Amino acid sequence: MTRLHDAPDGGAQVDCIACGATVARSRAREYDKHGDRWDRDGKRFEYLCKRCDDERCHRPRAGLEAMLVEAGAGEIDREEFLESFCYLARREAGAESEE
Ligand SMILES: [Zn+2]
Repeated sequence: MTRLHDAPDGGAQVDCIACGATVARSRAREYDKHGDRWDRDGKRFEYLCKRCDDERCHRPRAGLEAMLVEAGAGEIDREEFLESFCYLARREAGAESEE
C-alpha cells in the first residue's frame, strides 16, 4: 500500500532531498542551500521531511554552504565538483592556520 498521494490538506507534495520520501509540502521543512531562508527572491527551496530535518546537524556550518555553492555543487559533474571542493577546503584550512 502506498501513501505517496495521501495529502490530507490537498496541497502540493515535495520530495525530501535526504531520503527521497514524498511528503505534503505543508509537513516538510524548507531547506535553503544558500543558508538564508529569509531572502526568498527568485529562489526555489529544497525540502526535508521532518524526520531528516530532526536528524540533520543544526549547528552553524560556517562557510560550508557557501563553499558548496562556490564549488559548483549540483551544477558540474561529480569528479569536477570533488576536485573543486577539496581545493576550496584546503584553501580554507590554510587560511585558518595562518591566523
Ligand atoms: Zn527525509
